[in-house]
Formats: sequence, structure tokens, C-alpha cells
Amino acid sequence: MTIAGNVAGIQERIFSAARRVGRSADDIVLMGVSKTFPAEAVREAYAAGIRVFGENRVQEFAEKSAGLGHLPDAAWRLIGHLQSNKAAKAAELFDAVDSVDSLRLAERLNTAAAALGKKLRVLIEINIGGENAKAGLDPSAPELDKILLAAPRLHHLEIQGLMAIPPFFENPEDARPYFRKLRKVRDATRRRQLSGVDMSALSMGMSHDFEIAVEEGSTCVRVGKAIFGEREKG
Ligand SMILES: *Cc1c(COP(=O)(O)O)cnc(C)c1O
Repeated sequence: MTIAGNVAGIQERIFSAARRVGRSADDIVLMGVSKTFPAEAVREAYAAGIRVFGENRVQEFAEKSAGLGHLPDAAWRLIGHLQSNKAAKAAELFDAVDSVDSLRLAERLNTAAAALGKKLRVLIEINIGGENAKAGLDPSAPELDKILLAAPRLHHLEIQGLMAIPPFFENPEDARPYFRKLRKVRDATRRRQLSGVDMSALSMGMSHDFEIAVEEGSTCVRVGKAIFGEREKG
């Protein structure tokens, strides 16, 4: 299969999953997760219509972006864990950071974005399965509230919503309760109508479970392998 063929097939499956639950596929972004894949593969996905890309390492993307050339309208989102000391570099290279998991990191990103005169989009990462090995905040963590309540003074951040990676299951259907739980956390947060907090975005669903995520309200599915093929690392 080619990248273009894979993208077309996935778009079709997103369309069908959305239709099953009465949603419009227009409300769902297909992010191409291009980590570990070369600039050439990114350009192929771009030619196939992908406009939002996810990378998980600042340094890897710094090197890759040099070989990418200009891709009009392409948006770059950091989806991997970010250390505070790399916040400035991330703010410079990316349009969005989907893995914000502390107030300290949010503040660093805000300062860096201010220095660059840009507005950085962010998602807050939630550890929806409560797994020790995974990044993200527990939905009941005081830190989550701290970030949300700081929003009015984080002028250079646009808090768009939540991101999560549920536990892995052979049967993607088993991930459904976790997607549902994340959506509930998002909905509850949105109902608070906090100043400076948007909460329309729900980034969930990967290669093996994106259809379930779409059925449960995902607005952005992050798909790597099913577009680009198996990864050797990362
Ligand atoms: C790698 C990665 C993905 C994509 O995973 P696939 O199984 O290749 O689709 C999605 N989200 C995050 C945060 C990732 O690190």
C-alpha cells in the first residue's frame, strides 16, 4: 500500500465511523504521526491531503523540518512528552503542544511564545488509564485545575482541549470506556466555562482504535503506523 492509499482508506473509515454515530467527518482531523519517518514520507502524506502532523521529539523534528521545505497550511503538533528545559525550542518549532502536563511547562511555553510573538495552541494530556508508565495528569489531579485556572494570564497559549493515550488492548473495543471517560472529563471541564479555556478539542484514537475514538467523540485521531507503516524505533 502507498501512503496516499492508506490515507484514503483511513479517511473512508473515519467517514463511516462518524456516520454511525451521526457525526460529520468534517469535525474530525486526521493527524499524520510522522515520528521516525523521513521528510520524504511527510511530503507524500502532505500530497495525499494530510495537513496536521504529529511528532514526538523536539530534536528529531528540528532536523527533519530542515529537509521539509515549505508546506503551506501544514500544522506541526508536538505529541510526545516535553521537558520544561526544551519548552523554548518546542514553542519555536511547533504550532501546538498536545502534551502539556504541568503548570510549570505551560508557563514556560507561554513565556517562550510571548518572546516569539506567537500564540501557541496546547492540549492538556490526561493519563486516562492511570498507568504508571504513561505521561499525563490524573483527571482529578489538582495540577489540572491549576493549569485551567491560570489560563487568563497565559495570554500566549490557546488551551484547546485534552489529549490521551488509553491503555493498549488487542481488541480496540476494550478502549471504548477510556475514550468515553476522557470525553466526560472534557465535557465537565467545558461546562465550567473557564475564562481563556476552549475545551472543544478531544485528541484520542490511534492506528488500531481510531474508529472507536471517533464514535466516542474524538476531534483528532493521531495515526502513525496505518499511514506510514511499521516503525523501527520510537
Ligand atoms: C506514536 C504515537 C501515535 C501514533 O501511534 P500509531 O499506533 O502509530 O498510530 C499517536 N499518539 C501518540 C502520542 C504517539 O506517540
